[in-house]
Amino acid sequence: MSYVHLYTGNGKGKTTAAIGLALRAVGAGRRVYIAQFVKGQRYGEIAYIDRRIPTITTHRYGSECFIERKPTPDDISRAAEGLEEVRRILHNGRYGLVILDEATIAIYFGLFTSAELIDAINDRHPDTEVVITGRYATPDLIAAADLVTDMQEVKHYYTLGVEARPGIEC
Ligand code: ATP
Ligand code: MG
Repeated sequence: MSYVHLYTGNGKGKTTAAIGLALRAVGAGRRVYIAQFVKGQRYGEIAYIDRRIPTITTHRYGSECFIERKPTPDDISRAAEGLEEVRRILHNGRYGLVILDEATIAIYFGLFTSAELIDAINDRHPDTEVVITGRYATPDLIAAADLVTDMQEVKHYYTLGVEARPGIEC
């Protein structure tokens, strides 16, 4: 038995909640796969996981600073290849937890459709738990998930002009 989690909304804490669950899952003996869409660079947690936690596999399917510009054909093909790989990983049953970080953002930018993602999730191995993160989750994805958390931004220092800081935001 497995469930689909969706961590969405504008507030901080979606990706870090997923990483927290990844630690809990490996601690309990599950193998974990973290697929990151849109992102190209390794954030602090990923750099550490890649060096020290062999039971968590990570892969990024984006290029640098994607969010700041219009998606290129390269962004689109990376995301499409990512979705194809993720489909296989969800299906093969090797992982007890698969995280699809910023998958909603890939959909928001038209890199693939929510229907394609839902299809891959529905085709997963019965023992593979799934976590999807990112803003702007579409109603069909919300309907397809079993657990939805909406991170609500009550306050954030970025409105004061604070840039993303290594170790806290990236
Ligand atoms: P986290 O990775 O900290 O758990 P998140 O996954 O909920 O956050 P995202 O929407 O993926 O948040 O945004 C990535 C990071 O960028 C977050 O840490 C967020 O606080 C930060 N952020 C979002 N918008 C801005 C902005 N305009 N300026 C600076 N930082 C921002
Ligand atoms: Mg995030």
